[in-house]
Amino acid sequence: MNPDTITAPASWASFPSGTLPCASCGIPARDSIDAEVEVLQVFGRSGSAGYVPPRHDLLVTRCDQCRMIRQTALDLLSANPSVRQRIGAAEIAVHRLESALCALDAVGTTEPRAVDHLTATGADLVRLMDALTVPGGHARWAALARSASFVKAPSTPPSRARWSHLTPEQRQELRNTAARLLARRTEKPVDVLAPSDDGGPSGCMLCGVGAVEALREDAESVWTLMSADSASIGGPGRADSLDGVVCPRCDLAIDQAHGVGISAMTLSVRSFLGLPSYLRSLDNIDGLIGWAALPSGTAPNRRPWAHLDLGELREAAEALIGRAA
Ligand SMILES: [Zn+2]
Ligand SMILES: [Zn+2]
Repeated sequence: MNPDTITAPASWASFPSGTLPCASCGIPARDSIDAEVEVLQVFGRSGSAGYVPPRHDLLVTRCDQCRMIRQTALDLLSANPSVRQRIGAAEIAVHRLESALCALDAVGTTEPRAVDHLTATGADLVRLMDALTVPGGHARWAALARSASFVKAPSTPPSRARWSHLTPEQRQELRNTAARLLARRTEKPVDVLAPSDDGGPSGCMLCGVGAVEALREDAESVWTLMSADSASIGGPGRADSLDGVVCPRCDLAIDQAHGVGISAMTLSVRSFLGLPSYLRSLDNIDGLIGWAALPSGTAPNRRPWAHLDLGELREAAEALIGRAA
């Protein structure tokens, strides 16, 4: 064994016997047989390079409320498997979401309506974690114990009440972030018009839609600058390329098709008609032309692809979707 490695047999000096710290809110929690116990590792500084630093292995658990928070994180992730897959390891995903939910709990954002609002969809979960995982992780009592020095860590005092170890500044910051998230959730989307060089009406280069609904704070990122070769989007050949913007649907289609062209337009039309990607039919659509390749001065569309007659295609798509359902 490495002579510098001391795994100190530490116990919490400051907790009543028969209790362990709640790793989240910091109150003493019953240390019963059915309590789930975790090891909190606190490292000291290693004496010299190459040696493993000394370490305390301290036992922590969760109080009843904090155990429910962790369970909520588990339930939300199993209801939104794509969110979990995006993060990778299941354990990390749970930890991130639990930390974000702890932040809400710490500032008393616990009414079911508010929590439901903030966790309704996978996108909501991602937004919640982006905003609150890091401050929520810092807010947990385990972070406080870890930030103490190696010698002092085992005497980190318990919280007198749940989350009472938070500083007023920490609490205010968490409250502001939670309030911003809630405000965003209840905000109504607005029409964001396609930008143009001369300020006149413009549309998506492919589907021609002139406005896209988005939240005000996302307005800047709705439209994506794009340039395309007229012939590649079904128009007459020209020496110069066409410049403009594309809507989020067409931007995604361009990504999926690895470029602007007939494939991207096909994917955008299919997406507009609601055809799921697993239905292979209708993957060749004749007569597609991007809005930017129409004669200049053509008015933008109120609905995507309104410059084309999609009537028959729509009927075929609806029949297919009906059969697949
Ligand atoms: Zn707790
Ligand atoms: Zn478009």
